[in-house]
Amino acid sequence: MSNAGISIVRMSGMDAISIADRLYRSPKGNKRLADQLSHTIHYGYIYDGEEMIDEVMVLIMKGPSSYTREDVIEIDCHGGIVVTKKILELLIKNGARPAEPGEFTKRAFLNGRIDLSQAEAVIDIINAKSDMALKSSVSQLKGSVLEKVRNIRKNIIHDIAFIEAALDDPEHIEIDGFGEELLERVENNQKEISRLLSTADNGRIMKEGIKTVIVGKPNAGKSSLLNVLLGEERAIVTEIEGTTRDTLEESIYLGDIILNLVDTAGIRVTEDYVEGLGVEKARASAKDADLIIYVVDGTRQLDENDREIISLIKAKKAIVLLNKIDLESVISKEDLEKEVNQPVLLISAKEELGLSRLEEKIKEMFFQGELKFNDEIYITNMRHKSALMETSESLSKVKESIEASMPEDFYSIDLMNAYESLGTIIGESVGEDLINTIFSEFCMGK
Ligand code: GDP
Repeated sequence: MSNAGISIVRMSGMDAISIADRLYRSPKGNKRLADQLSHTIHYGYIYDGEEMIDEVMVLIMKGPSSYTREDVIEIDCHGGIVVTKKILELLIKNGARPAEPGEFTKRAFLNGRIDLSQAEAVIDIINAKSDMALKSSVSQLKGSVLEKVRNIRKNIIHDIAFIEAALDDPEHIEIDGFGEELLERVENNQKEISRLLSTADNGRIMKEGIKTVIVGKPNAGKSSLLNVLLGEERAIVTEIEGTTRDTLEESIYLGDIILNLVDTAGIRVTEDYVEGLGVEKARASAKDADLIIYVVDGTRQLDENDREIISLIKAKKAIVLLNKIDLESVISKEDLEKEVNQPVLLISAKEELGLSRLEEKIKEMFFQGELKFNDEIYITNMRHKSALMETSESLSKVKESIEASMPEDFYSIDLMNAYESLGTIIGESVGEDLINTIFSEFCMGK
């Protein structure tokens, strides 16, 4: 907590308005908050007995038209720590209790105003690290994920109901040939889910950033590049080969994308144990990196270190930077392009040349230039991703049962599992433990 212009102290629950009335006085002293209309704002003072504490504005939002669907009172007071605490203490003394982290949003969820995916979007909005992350979270808050999940669930429950009905009443409901129809619908649902899952990588990248590793042999200019990108002398640049031994991790913003950079000791064919660790690290991080930036020293011929890196980046998303173009180059862009089979950009880390193309190139590679939020849903939440994967597995089992001409009640079991896995995304059929874990990640007062 620190001093600010304005603080908001808020209360939710059936006693919220009556508790506020015990402390609030209008300028003329004749107004009761309980008598006021919902969604109105009232000027006045907070009193502790006969002592005036602060001049405030009080907002009244009566349930169910409020964030929590309960009566909500917000007191806008002056933003000093002492005065805010004092008002909070007074409310508690008069019957309120401090909220748990995320309790307002939890109540909104428990009272059915939002589903779990929307509640998670709230925390993502608060934690958004970039404009892109914010946009996708807002779309999730508006219910884009909820709506999609609901539709697929509706299809599934329809089929479950049909099977149950047919099995109960075989004389009137014909189930022959149903398997084929169902197969088509299951496949369609699975396609929808695959499409959602295919957005999860970009979704994660949007939310957390692109895990990027810079590789290149010693002295190629990796640290210099990192420093330019960071805009500060944070990595130690040296003239001696192979001294960048520590692994550095930094997040940098290129426009509205985030690169989570892991600098490495460079890839080097070596017997030296300590250097070897660096090489191992580079290999390991290159393996699970989203993007590899390979820095080539244009003033030296490619050697066995470069060959090793080139083989490492073959099947990855990589950008090759031909560095030191301010000096005479012994490698041409065309030759290098042939060699690496990846896009090559000319740069000078020292003179800071050619770097704006890097940002454009990354956007092209990851987001096809520009991200569209209008109709596209991105799965940014890993919990949602694993639930979708479980759903897809259950649907695969339904398909197998149909193809093996198993009895119909086998289909319903796996359809039901699919239905429940999807339900966990929006918060239906989830246990209290999971709910508590999710809301404990929230900050106080949200
Ligand atoms: P690293 O070992 O790959 O991290 O390489 P460094 O970033 O430490 O750079 C090694 C040397 O190359 C340093 O002396 C840098 O100043 C120099 N260097 C890096 N980039 C450039 C460049 O674009 N032009 C020139 N002339 N020198 C550079």
